[in-house]
Amino acid sequence: MPDKTTLQQLSAAVEANFEEQVRFLADIVRHPSLRGREAPLQDHMYRWFAGRGYAVDRFSIADVRLQEHPKASPMVDVDPAGSFQVVASRRCASPTGRSLILQGHIDVVPEGPAEMWTFPPYGGTVKDGWMYGRGAHDMKSGVSAMCFALEAIRAAGYAPAADVHLQTVTEEESTGNGALATLLRGYRADACLIPEPTGGTITRAHTGTMWFRLRVRGVPVHVAVAQSGSNAIMSAYHLILALQEHTKRLNEAAKTDKWYEGTPDPIKFNPGIIRGGDWASSTPAWCEVDCRLGLLPGQDVATQQRAVEKAVAEAARTDNFLSNNPPEVVWHGFLADGFVQEPGSEAEAVLAEAHRAAFGEEMGARISTAVNDTRFYGLYFGMPALCYGPKGEGAHGFDERTNLEHLKTTTLSIAAFVADWCGLQPLS
Ligand code: ZN
Repeated sequence: MPDKTTLQQLSAAVEANFEEQVRFLADIVRHPSLRGREAPLQDHMYRWFAGRGYAVDRFSIADVRLQEHPKASPMVDVDPAGSFQVVASRRCASPTGRSLILQGHIDVVPEGPAEMWTFPPYGGTVKDGWMYGRGAHDMKSGVSAMCFALEAIRAAGYAPAADVHLQTVTEEESTGNGALATLLRGYRADACLIPEPTGGTITRAHTGTMWFRLRVRGVPVHVAVAQSGSNAIMSAYHLILALQEHTKRLNEAAKTDKWYEGTPDPIKFNPGIIRGGDWASSTPAWCEVDCRLGLLPGQDVATQQRAVEKAVAEAARTDNFLSNNPPEVVWHGFLADGFVQEPGSEAEAVLAEAHRAAFGEEMGARISTAVNDTRFYGLYFGMPALCYGPKGEGAHGFDERTNLEHLKTTTLSIAAFVADWCGLQPLS
């Protein structure tokens, strides 16, 4: 742990910079960095890092040999060449400590109908100690925490005594290919911290995620003779019900899982987007449903994919039309493993200690039923991968918001973690 004086210096620096941090956060929330449209925000991040003396590397997913990696996910709907990653490095000339990657995703999910928000979704409005906006919580708050943890260290007159890479990535909400691209670009460290908004807990386990698109055909006829046609939307509905049954069976099996036995129905199935049909008085000739299904850590993605295809094929066989016109299952995004950051790592002990120093309480652990990017570091590249960050509400929902007081303390906690993990040298 950094000594008391250093901690006080860091705390004072976080406090002194906090107004600027809130401004920074509002700025990045105002960028609608939806999938495929993250580049302007990455340009902004590039300039911000470069202006503070970081060595900045900006590259696209097309610049690395992503699809040669077995854990790359398909990118069907966006161009990898337009998906930019930014890595800002502060390298230490004579390192004496342990190196660190701090990573945050800057992609956000669609905001939905703006009129259902109390505050404009890309406004970055502050009210009663909370900042509102899509991404304010998941996870631009965490991005501000990692950036300003490093700012605090510098303002206090120190530099980390090891290499630190600050990474802003895309694709976290759809494939994870942004994080994987930074690893394939060559960035490594002795640990990785991803400040997703965990409310000051460490994510002990996260589930995997699979995305697939159901493609169903129909026979278009005038609805007056609907019996001679086939309705693709109703066929898709039949398949959705079958997949709900499939999910029930998966959750039955999850009841004895070591990490998830205490979590009711940890496998979540979601038909998230539906498109189909052309006319209210014609039986629809086509329907597509984009679905998301979870899996447990340790379960094999390919095996779970085959199980989905089997459930769909079996449901199709019980339907007159579908049995002769089998639906397609297209894997168009996430093929992500679950991951457990086993307790007992040195990195976690250092983080727990930093949390205690900043918050004055013990760091809890949580079990997550969603995916995050730590799996790449922890499962495939052998690095301790900690998912820990600020507190907020409403991820993927209306009036998403982050708590600014908690964000400030989290920033201090991360600064203290960097100070202890990397060590500090006087700023030269
Ligand atoms: Zn997130």
